Amino acid sequence: MTSSNRPVRNDPISLEARHGAANYLPLPMTLTRGAGVHLWDTDGRRYLDMMSAYSAVSFGHAHPELLEVLREQAGRLAVCSRAFHSDRLGPFLARLCALTAMDRALPMNTGAEAVETALKAARKWGHEVKGIADGRARIIAAKGNFAGRTISIVSFSTEAQYRDGFGPFTPGFDIVPYGDADALEAAIGPDTAAFLVEPVQGEAGIIVPPDGYLKAAREICARHDVLLIADEVQTGLGRTGRVLACQHEGVEPDLLVLGKALGAGLLPVSALLARDDVMAMFRPGDHGSTFGGNPLAAAVGEAALRILVRDRLAERADAMGRYLLEGLRAFEHPAIAEVRGKGLLVGMELRSEFVAARAFCESLMQEGVLSKETHGTVVRFAPPLVIAREEIDAALDAVARVLDRVPRLPRTGTQFDRGAMVPA
Ligand SMILES: *Cc1c(COP(=O)(O)O)cnc(C)c1O
Repeated sequence: MTSSNRPVRNDPISLEARHGAANYLPLPMTLTRGAGVHLWDTDGRRYLDMMSAYSAVSFGHAHPELLEVLREQAGRLAVCSRAFHSDRLGPFLARLCALTAMDRALPMNTGAEAVETALKAARKWGHEVKGIADGRARIIAAKGNFAGRTISIVSFSTEAQYRDGFGPFTPGFDIVPYGDADALEAAIGPDTAAFLVEPVQGEAGIIVPPDGYLKAAREICARHDVLLIADEVQTGLGRTGRVLACQHEGVEPDLLVLGKALGAGLLPVSALLARDDVMAMFRPGDHGSTFGGNPLAAAVGEAALRILVRDRLAERADAMGRYLLEGLRAFEHPAIAEVRGKGLLVGMELRSEFVAARAFCESLMQEGVLSKETHGTVVRFAPPLVIAREEIDAALDAVARVLDRVPRLPRTGTQFDRGAMVPA
């Protein structure tokens, strides 16, 4: 009891509220268990996971084979640092390079670290190979980009909230509109080392660029001796219906960043992949990570890649993604502004005069489907790639039930402000 005699609440959400940082605003429910495409909360309620941890859980929860690899490797050798060779790293890197048609891979843990690694490689290449004066290399990024939360990465974010109060920022970045190849070409100067781009912008609200954009960017970068860095942390490894989203346009980037699903939903595993001549920028002592490439991560990552190919999960994401897009596009409701996406990375943009995306997600939760809003207006649908047609049907049914409760006329006032429920 507190001094005011109010009972102290010790449920997990209260403990989080009391002892945590408030940097997330989770849906009001507490998960305890997951299996396949489903999650269970502390009340034993089952949910369909249409979020898969921002695309990190592509193989589904508690995948038996991946769990076995994790268990076996954890009991044998988990972490030894890269001061020593392990028997797991080489095979992992070899499989990663073979799958992505890249020459070399540098393993890290989180997506942000792998992006930072790409930025370092590109800058050094700019100085040592392209001949940019030392400390002058510039990197172009696209408006709406998301590449993580480090200070250098938020330095080129165009989201005010990601930056506010966190300066001073890292210099050397230029911003161009996303999806506009002419603007990219116009922004390239003699000191430009690289262009960093997401084939589909995930966090910006599932923004799909015009057809041919990536191909044009590839051609422009090649012509100006600028490295093309594809940030496929979210789009990579089958998510958009190809192993890499770049493959939709037959584009081979110079640097490729992977993360999220690479850890099979079990561990943080990321990597920078690059051509020989770019990876040659790193010499002993130039760069590192205590946990990057540890045997446990390498074993799990290698198994994830093997299962991705064996179970044809990219093809599955392509087919199931089309089915999901079709199903969502069939809804006729004035609250839906647009449904867009590629593979199983789909966004449903809502008109805020009708309903806030947060309220929509809370109502979906009550209907047994978990998703998360992005940018206040977009509901994201990015389930594990192992999802079956009947499970997509169940998600669509839940969306239909929530839509039924959204008024067909625009509302004003506070009823549908951020956080308010769609009335049952
Ligand atoms: C999530 C994400 C990152 C950052 O990954 P973290 O593991 O959260 O650091 C980078 N790029 C893209 C495109 C992402 O979606």
